[in-house]
Amino acid sequence: MAFPDASTRLVTLLGHPVEHSLSPRMHNAAFRHLGLNLVYLATDVRPADLPAAVEGLRAMGLRGANVTLPHKETIRPLLDACSDRARAVGAVNTVVCVDTEAGARTLHGDNTDVAGFLAPLAPFADRLHGTDQLIFGAGGAARAAAYALLTTYQPSVLTLAVRTPARAEALARDLAPFDARGALRVVALAEAEAAVATSRLLVNATPLGMHPHVEGTPWARQASFHRAQVVYDLVYAPQHTRLLREAGARGATTVGGLGMLIGQAAAAFTAWTGHPFPLEVVRQALG
Ligand code: NAP
Repeated sequence: MAFPDASTRLVTLLGHPVEHSLSPRMHNAAFRHLGLNLVYLATDVRPADLPAAVEGLRAMGLRGANVTLPHKETIRPLLDACSDRARAVGAVNTVVCVDTEAGARTLHGDNTDVAGFLAPLAPFADRLHGTDQLIFGAGGAARAAAYALLTTYQPSVLTLAVRTPARAEALARDLAPFDARGALRVVALAEAEAAVATSRLLVNATPLGMHPHVEGTPWARQASFHRAQVVYDLVYAPQHTRLLREAGARGATTVGGLGMLIGQAAAAFTAWTGHPFPLEVVRQALG
C-alpha cells in the first residue's frame, strides 16, 4: 500500500524556528526504509502558542514529537509525565504520546540528548572512566552532557569552563544530587588553562565554530591539546570544526557532533516505533 494514507500517523518537531532542522530528513528516511506508516513534519510554534500545540498533539493523536529551542524547558509542566533524566537535565526534547486502554492519550517527556551525547563516546569508555573532564559552556547541551558524564563516567573532576559563571553555578547546583564525588567545578574561560591541560575529555557545548562563524573555537591555545585527550565538539555543521582540527593536529582523538545528533534521534525513534534506527540509511539521508 502507498503511504501516506488515511491511517498515517504524524510525528512533529515543535520549535521556533525549525527550518534548519535535519530531523525530518532523518526520521522520514527511517520510516520509509522500515515501511512504517508515519510522517515527520517540522512545525514552527511561537512560545505563546506552545500550550495549544501540546494539546493538539493529544487531540489529534500524534505518535510523538521532538522539542527544540525555545520550548525544551517550558514544555515540561504541560506534559503528563517526565523521565527522571528529563527532570534532572531540566529539558525535554522528545514526547511520546501513549494511547491508554480507556481511550485517553497521555504525553510522556524524555531527554534523548543524554543517550545521544553518550553514544559516540562508547568506544572510549575505558579511557574516560574516573578521569578529569571539562565542558565548555553551561547551556542546554552542557546540562545534558554534564548529567551524562556524572552518571556514566564518574569523573574525578568535571570543570565547566564558561564566560558567565552564574549560569554554570546554577547548573552545578541543579546537578549536585548526581555529583556524589563533588566533581563539579566552575572556572572562567580565561582561567581554564590548567583544567584544559589535565582533562582527558574536552567537550565543546558552545556554538563557537558553528557555521557560518567557522573560525570560532572555545579554546584557541593549541599547546594545551595532547595525545591522551578525547576532544568532542557538539557542533555538527561543519563536521570538522577548528577545535577538532587543532586538537587532532596535536594528536588528540576527535569526535564530531553528528554522532550525537543521530544518537538522540535514534533514541527518540525507538521510543515512538519500537524499532532500532536504521543508522546507515539515516547517514546516507544526511548526505
Ligand atoms: P545554549 O543553551 O544557548 O548555550 C550556549 C552556551 O554557549 C552558553 O553557556 C553560552 O554562554 C556559551 N557561549 C555562547 N557564545 C559564547 C562565546 N562567544 N564565548 C563563550 N561562551 C559562549 O545552546 P545549547 O542548546 O546548549 O547548544 C550549544 C551548541 O551545542 C549549539 O550551538 C549546537 O551546535 C550544539 N548542540 C549539538 C547537538 C547535537 O546533537 N550534536 C545538540 C544540542 C546542541 P552564556 O551563558 O554566557 O551565554
